[in-house]
Amino acid sequence: MNDKNKAEEQRRAKLLKMRAERLPDIKKAFEENQKRNFNANFAPGGKDEKLVRKKTTTKTVATKTVKKAATPASKKAVAKKSNTSRNSKATKQAASNTDKKRDVNLLVSTRKGEMVHHQRMLSQDVNAQATQHIIGIPVNKSRYNGYNGEQVTMAQIKSARPHKDAVRVIPIGGLGEFGIGKNMTAIEYQGEIVLIDMGTLFASEDYPGVNYMVPDAKWLDDNRDKVKAILFTHAHLDHIGACRHLLPFFGPYVPIYATPFTIGMIKKQMSELSDVPDMNYNEVNPLDHKNIKISEHLSCEFIHTLHSIPGNTSIVVRTPNGNILLSGDWRFENNPMDTPADYDRMLEIRDKEGYALLLNESTNIDTPGTHPHSEFDVGENMGRVMDHYANGRVIISCFSSQVKRIELVLKEAAARGRKVAFAGYSMINNVEVALRAKAIKVPKDTIMKMEDIVKLPDEKVTIVCTGSQGEMNAVLNRMVTGSHRYIKIKATDTIVFSSNPIPGNEPKVVNTVGGLLREGAQVIQNGKTHLTNIGPLHLSGHAYFEDHVKFVTDMRPKNYMPYHGEFYMLQHNAEMAENVVGIPRERIIVADDGDIVELMPDQTIHKNGRIHVGNKLYDDADQQVNEAVVKDRIHISREGIFVVILTLSKKTGRLIKTPDIVSRAFIYLDNSEELIGKIRHYLRAKTDHTLASDSDIKALKEEIKEDVTHILYDATGHTPIVIPVINKV
Ligand SMILES: [Zn+2]
Ligand SMILES: [Zn+2]
Repeated sequence: MNDKNKAEEQRRAKLLKMRAERLPDIKKAFEENQKRNFNANFAPGGKDEKLVRKKTTTKTVATKTVKKAATPASKKAVAKKSNTSRNSKATKQAASNTDKKRDVNLLVSTRKGEMVHHQRMLSQDVNAQATQHIIGIPVNKSRYNGYNGEQVTMAQIKSARPHKDAVRVIPIGGLGEFGIGKNMTAIEYQGEIVLIDMGTLFASEDYPGVNYMVPDAKWLDDNRDKVKAILFTHAHLDHIGACRHLLPFFGPYVPIYATPFTIGMIKKQMSELSDVPDMNYNEVNPLDHKNIKISEHLSCEFIHTLHSIPGNTSIVVRTPNGNILLSGDWRFENNPMDTPADYDRMLEIRDKEGYALLLNESTNIDTPGTHPHSEFDVGENMGRVMDHYANGRVIISCFSSQVKRIELVLKEAAARGRKVAFAGYSMINNVEVALRAKAIKVPKDTIMKMEDIVKLPDEKVTIVCTGSQGEMNAVLNRMVTGSHRYIKIKATDTIVFSSNPIPGNEPKVVNTVGGLLREGAQVIQNGKTHLTNIGPLHLSGHAYFEDHVKFVTDMRPKNYMPYHGEFYMLQHNAEMAENVVGIPRERIIVADDGDIVELMPDQTIHKNGRIHVGNKLYDDADQQVNEAVVKDRIHISREGIFVVILTLSKKTGRLIKTPDIVSRAFIYLDNSEELIGKIRHYLRAKTDHTLASDSDIKALKEEIKEDVTHILYDATGHTPIVIPVINKV
């Protein structure tokens, strides 16, 4: 054991020394590279001069002719418009005249066309909002679209036939979506498939009642038997979150490979299924440098890298057409808590075998500079908080997957005689998994249960909890509102936000901070050093721009494909590779989910067709939500719902009691007597004749739906979902 530690220490020291020696050379190389390869014609965001010139010439001619023709015509149009508005009263009159021809007078002043227009616009809005997650055939005319910036036609995509000897790289999720998540990549060669990661994407507030999304596995349905292995880079939910939906489908025959911590987290997730499936888990130690044979033609090797979670890896997939390096999520760290990244192994493979293709993540590509900081800094600053606010409780909120940071908190607390309790389901879960996988070390007698720690004096109490994103139902907010079982925030408490708000969550965090401040508590947020003089309390888990430059320069990939990011991140990542690192444009591809990227035996690369990709939506009870349901929810949230219930006599078809009216999320009925009276009047008039068959009832329902919508639109400017219910007794 001791020998092993010693060897590891020596290895670490060697690594650090080698890196320090390399640094000046690398820096020089960058500077030269930057000078050499920066494309003088390159205008950020613009196309090449060549491409642009070809198109604009035709355009200018076109606009000129249009301009000439447009002036007199548009004048006429304006004249016409004013005419129409003058005549609009007359039109309205005419419209209501046509209405009068029908059996019931609706007594409305708006034309039906206006209502229909409103409905059409509304349904367009609802569709646009509810289908942001649908990835159709993306029109990708970007410089790196795999067709040299030329537009691709549907026919081209449809007629694409796979090349027999190509290695096909297929992003199933994680590329060019709104928000980062749902990462999943397939690599296929002659009917053998290896899958890498199965992540979820958290749904935005645009999706009422939807909690997260999972990649649509239709393509996998059809290709299940070809899947030879499933690999996971690390245990963040955007990489393993979809396991419980997708893994059971493969059963015990397909081997799953990952590091012990990642496997632990996957198992934990699977244990939440009512029927826990038998799976073929295989723990990998990346420091072994073992080449794992996946199938006849494919094998893989895990490489230890650093991120913000233990057991993080990059993966090399060895194929007949060369090595594909998938970076996973990563950052550099000068003085890591974890074992230093096995960068030397990456370089060794580069030198001995080379990389035909590098898939590199894109999360922080837009952040300038480098990010060599160490988690130790965060730990020290946590200690400083405990010293500053030594007389009260310290409540630290961070992401539950930051188990290394939790280890630091435990250490700092123990050094000050404080005890630590964990709050929040995922927090407790993750600490358990980390302890079992030996991913963290814990000082003796420091961890306590929540119910016990509250009995201690305040200066001994440290609590680590979820809720740093201001989530309404997370522990921190419950402590603020007083709905937490053991803790109510008080004026002597100090709350640390050891995180940054994820884009989109800012207002929620602001709200939580406001609540804490109202209780008189001290709030310390990362990034607001000027308020408290306490340094960084959170570090990003992703490399910055210059780190990417170094990484890509060092790996010398033949071909390059950004992944793990929204479209603009992928594009910026590609621009970095071309303009700073100097990879030729035709060797860089910005793909969307579903694109098939072919790596050829001669190690050229191109796009060739698409597979079906999409999303499945799930609510917080893990139940699938149909898209139609989401659309209804959005519609109701904007316009409301309006139900009319008619009871008709079987014999006469006439109303036998006053119609019941139910309105939800639309208007408050007590304040709308006049409108309701009008609708009742209409319904009475409408049913004042005999009905014979069920088809008459169906037609009657349709007419009532349309007319009531019209009356409501006339009175309120809204078109709620109108549901007529007709009972015959
Ligand atoms: Zn991650
Ligand atoms: Zn990720």
